Amino acid sequence: MVENMKGKIRVFCRIRPMNRTEIARGDSTIVSRLDEYSITVETARGQREFQFDRIFDTQCSQEEVFQDTNRLIQSAIDGFNVCIFAYGQTGSGKTYTMVGDKHLKNPGIIPRTFNKIFDIIHKNEAKFDIKVSAYMLELYNERLQDLFVSPAEAFSKRIEMKKDKKGLVFAQGAETKQAASPSELFALFEQGCANRHIAATKMNVESSRSHLIIGIMVENRNLTNGTVCYGKLSLVDLAGSERAAKTGAKDGQLKEANSINKSLSALGDVISALSSDQPHVPYRNNKLTQAMQDSLGGNAKTLMFVNISPSDCNVEETLTSLIYATRVKAITNNAQRNMDSKEIAQLKEIIVKLRSGQPVEEEDVQ
Ligand code: ADP
Ligand code: MG
Repeated sequence: MVENMKGKIRVFCRIRPMNRTEIARGDSTIVSRLDEYSITVETARGQREFQFDRIFDTQCSQEEVFQDTNRLIQSAIDGFNVCIFAYGQTGSGKTYTMVGDKHLKNPGIIPRTFNKIFDIIHKNEAKFDIKVSAYMLELYNERLQDLFVSPAEAFSKRIEMKKDKKGLVFAQGAETKQAASPSELFALFEQGCANRHIAATKMNVESSRSHLIIGIMVENRNLTNGTVCYGKLSLVDLAGSERAAKTGAKDGQLKEANSINKSLSALGDVISALSSDQPHVPYRNNKLTQAMQDSLGGNAKTLMFVNISPSDCNVEETLTSLIYATRVKAITNNAQRNMDSKEIAQLKEIIVKLRSGQPVEEEDVQ
């Protein structure tokens, strides 16, 4: 019954359209899509070509982008550990891809995923009992904040990323909330975004300076044979990858930029260790890599978006991002279904009951 699947991390590249400033300034477009899988970048030292699993051009709609992501959501419900994350410099379209535009006229992957999860649940209601819960975290200046509680409360809490016996990462100390419908899940997400916004305003920072990490857990009980599988979907909108020097950051901003650089370079170190098959992978060096440990090189189906700008003024950052993404493409994950037999699932329930002092009934032990 256990389906193990070795597979490369998939990398999709998305080119955002020129913005008004760039058009007004007369910037030129240096990135072009050759075909579904390749793009070229004009650099001072000539043309460079890159290959990815899919290229989304400036005109690609949110719906088209989501179509290729769909399958992964079914996998999470089937008991796989799935991660979708967006990487790129500030302003390259990460949040647009993951969340959507400001008023969600063009919703991105996260809200579409919420709907899709419950669509699948409804279609399978007769055969499966599926429970959904979520946590939502922000990583800012090396600190993990729980976005499901008020910023004041979040500040006094200590959150640590831990691994359970199956190797799945969980956020110890963070609230995990259940959701019974897409609107409930969306309301939780909005509450989290509002808390993030309040915290950011208080500290006078922008959301693009922190990493957003959402974990959605799916517990799926097969009503026919009693097996239970546990899937997890991690959705990550990373902080901007640009270097501090370029943004002219000072003092507080510099600390912030350094901590972003630290976490993204720790992520880079993990990626290079994995892509060159080194025996030691330095996951523990940073909270970001701890949080993504089960998504990179581990037991996961992982999809990375590398978001890039089309403009000549961003050529360096665009090249850096594309080179980073090319390394990610070389990583092989070993995806496994997390499943318990009926007996094990029952034992777990009994243990939970015993621990909380609830009586164990005869029907618990069948
Ligand atoms: P990031 O999160 O990488 O800093 P954003 O997602 O906030 O960047 O994008 C910067 C701006 O560009 C936003 O105003 C966003 O709406 C717009 N934008 C980004 N990608 C696209 C796209 N594919 N189509 C239309 N507008 C986009
Ligand atoms: Mg952003």
